[in-house]
Amino acid sequence: MTIGSSYNYPSQAPGLETRNKRSPSGKWKARFPNPPDLCFDYRALLEQPGGIARATDSSHRICIIGAGITGLTAARELLRCGFTHITLIEQSSRIGGRHLTVPGSPQSKASHTPFEMGAMRMPLFNREGESPKDGRSLMAYYATIFELALSDFANPGSQWVRSTGIYLREGSLSKPATPQMLIWKNADGRTLPPGEELQAVYAKWRAFADRMTRHVCDSYASEQWESVWAAIVARYHAISFRDLVSMPAAMRFSIQPACSLKARATLGSRR
Ligand SMILES: Cc1cc2nc3c(=O)[nH]c(=O)nc-3n(C[C@H](O)[C@H](O)[C@H](O)COP(=O)(O)OP(=O)(O)OC[C@H]3O[C@@H](n4cnc5c(N)ncnc54)[C@H](O)[C@@H]3O)c2cc1C
Repeated sequence: MTIGSSYNYPSQAPGLETRNKRSPSGKWKARFPNPPDLCFDYRALLEQPGGIARATDSSHRICIIGAGITGLTAARELLRCGFTHITLIEQSSRIGGRHLTVPGSPQSKASHTPFEMGAMRMPLFNREGESPKDGRSLMAYYATIFELALSDFANPGSQWVRSTGIYLREGSLSKPATPQMLIWKNADGRTLPPGEELQAVYAKWRAFADRMTRHVCDSYASEQWESVWAAIVARYHAISFRDLVSMPAAMRFSIQPACSLKARATLGSRR
């Protein structure tokens, strides 16, 4: 499995001013970038000496159902708290749940490309120029203490793939007789995708992502954050990427308090 990724696009919006915690008293407040739904610094919780809490009755019997990543993590952290009677029950013949890498065919002489049957890339939420394992995610914490290897995830269009084939409008752009695949080679990480239309889509997406990142960075972990996040979810959760890049662009980000039940965010997706 490719655990984590040694790069992180969201922390790289141009001109982004990242700050450490919003206030020294906000011990549990997360810094940006971090998972958006809860601004809580879970890593700080885990890094406390002795773990997340202290067991008052260490002989208390605990049963955990399921040895996926959640069950395994819960068992470890409860053990660190001092509980000594923990039973972990797994229905299948293996642990790991929806983390499963199936090796490629050993009969193949060409390569043994593994297949990911579930999770394959785990964001570490590090900043640009910061070691991925110094990110504030739990993944970064566990990758550090278990000395997990990281690799560059082969994101389409990135420099970590040899090339990316794209069928824009099912390959029927400009109405060619047969569908055409556009090939994007981006060995230096700065090469734009081929063709004017694809570059227009790319520019629009890039502007959207950068503007969203800056807005999130500005309000993350502030008093307004829950309203901002609720409004972003309400506005964008049902919009496909195809619809997003063809929507008329708004040039400003405006938001109403979520408590009015009319929370809306409008975010420009054009430069
Ligand atoms: C195709 C796919 C791609 C994904 N890609 C990503 C990704 O790139 N990045 C990412 O972060 N996440 C990804 N996810 C999500 C991620 O895999 C899951 O969120 C995560 O593995 C859930 O872990 P879990 O321990 O909560 O549940 P599971 O991994 O589902 O573990 C539950 C365990 O409980 C066992 N169990 C269930 N019922 C019982 C029972 N009654 N008795 C005993 N045992 C039981 C199951 O057998 C299983 O082992 C992906 C998921 C899928 C399916």
